[in-house]
This record gives sequence, C-alpha cells and structure tokens, in this order.
Amino acid sequence: MRSSMRRRRVIAWTAGGVAVLLVLAAGVVWSAARFDGRRVAMAGLPFDLVIQPGVTGPEVRAVEDGLRLADRHLRSALGQGVRERVEVRLARGQGCRWRTSADGPSTAWAEPRLMCVNTLSPGWREAMTAGTGQAQDVIAHEHVHNLQGQVGCFRAADDHEWLWLFEGMAVHLAYRAMVDGGRWREEDEIGRIRSWGADDPSLGPLSGFERTGAGLGDPAYALFHLAVRSLARGPNGTPALLDFCRATAQGRPWRTAFADAFGITLDTFYTKFEQLRRGTI
Ligand SMILES: [Zn+2]
Repeated sequence: MRSSMRRRRVIAWTAGGVAVLLVLAAGVVWSAARFDGRRVAMAGLPFDLVIQPGVTGPEVRAVEDGLRLADRHLRSALGQGVRERVEVRLARGQGCRWRTSADGPSTAWAEPRLMCVNTLSPGWREAMTAGTGQAQDVIAHEHVHNLQGQVGCFRAADDHEWLWLFEGMAVHLAYRAMVDGGRWREEDEIGRIRSWGADDPSLGPLSGFERTGAGLGDPAYALFHLAVRSLARGPNGTPALLDFCRATAQGRPWRTAFADAFGITLDTFYTKFEQLRRGTI
C-alpha cells in the first residue's frame, strides 16, 4: 500500500512535471512563432516581409533591394535560388524571437525559411547610416544562408565543420550580388577584404576556422571571403559552391565533397591559399 501510494505520487509528480514542461515548451514555440507586424508579399519574388511598427520606409526599401539583388545573383551565378518562400521579419518593438532583445548585438540571422533583421541593433543602425549599400549587403548575406538551408547544408552555430566556407559563401556571394546589381565595383573587393582586417596576423591559418572563430568578427569574415573568392575563381567556378553544398546535404564527408566540387584536395587548397593570402593582402 505504502509503496503503491508512493509510486502513484511519483507518477503524479512526473505527470505534473511533464505538464509544466509542455506548457513552457508551448509558450516558447508560441512566442517564437508569434511575430506581429504588417505583412507584405514581394511581387514576383519568394519573400514575405513582416514589418513591425517603427521600421522606416528607407529600411524596408533597403531590405527589399537586398533581397532582390541576392535572389537575382544566386539564380544567375549558381543556377538556383530558394524554392520555398522566406518570411523576412523586420523587428523593431520586439527582438527576432522569444527572449531576444530588440537592441541586442545580433544584426540579423537566417534559417531555411526565415530571416530576421533586428533594426534596433547597432550593426543595422550603422549599416543604414552609412547608406552605401551595407544594409543590402547584410540582407544578401543572410539570404545566402536561406539558400544553404533550403539546399540542406545549413549548420547551426555549434555544429560547424566547414565554418569558413559556410560564412565565406555568404560574404562572397553577397558582395558579388552587390557588384551584379551595379552598386559596388568588382575591383574594390580586395580593398574591402583588406579594410575588414584580413591581414590581422593574430588570425592564424584558414585551417583553424573549420569549427569555430566567427566570433573574431570582420577580420575573420574577410579571410573567409578571400578564401571563397579564390574557390569561385577556380576551374569549376561559382556553381561549385552549390555542388559542394548539395553533396554535404546528401551526407558526403565534407573533405570528399570539397575535393569533388572544387577539383582540389582540402590540404592542397590550404597550402595554396596561405601563399595567395601572403601575396594578396
Ligand atoms: Zn553569416
């Protein structure tokens, strides 16, 4: 009797605990999914904007412009854009998701079918103030992550094996989207890589950025940009980036996928890249 009472109490406690957890989890899901704002479908493009009150007209136009440039470039350079629609949230009154701060450090982030721009973040404010296409560049960068997600090679922050290539694709293709759209000049690409600090000696070799290192910010991203730029200029061209992505999405080990897509083994690329890096920046 005693033992069965005790067992029932344990079961009741467990059921209660599960119920509490379910309510909490539902709250998290509901809060993450809920994002109030004016919904605008972009005509002829796979984007639905959700704009919160307070987001300005120039901000909306910069986002739309960045999306248009990125979509056009990915379709022409890679032969494929996103196939499923992307919801693009322009956050103002609340952050991009539950418990994220509206003025927190994250400028923007992307998932396969979602992008969120934190318009109160310092990074976005700076990009908008500069007015030289930097805001469009941020959007184009995130849209590359949308495509990576839809192709199946998106990696979460703690799950990277080829971080420099994942982020380098976004930086390089976003830059090229700006060039394609006539906003930036191709001949300024190396200049920007330098100005972002790719020559910072503390960065170390590219091979040190397979799993971590994005936290080093602009200098690291500039290094990734230079690396992916050199891959895109290789024998298999820019579409090789998508070939690599597709192969890893199908479960091929990334080093094999790399050699197949780019026509060079990873070790040889690392060696050649360090030479190129010394001679370029
Ligand atoms: Zn990124």
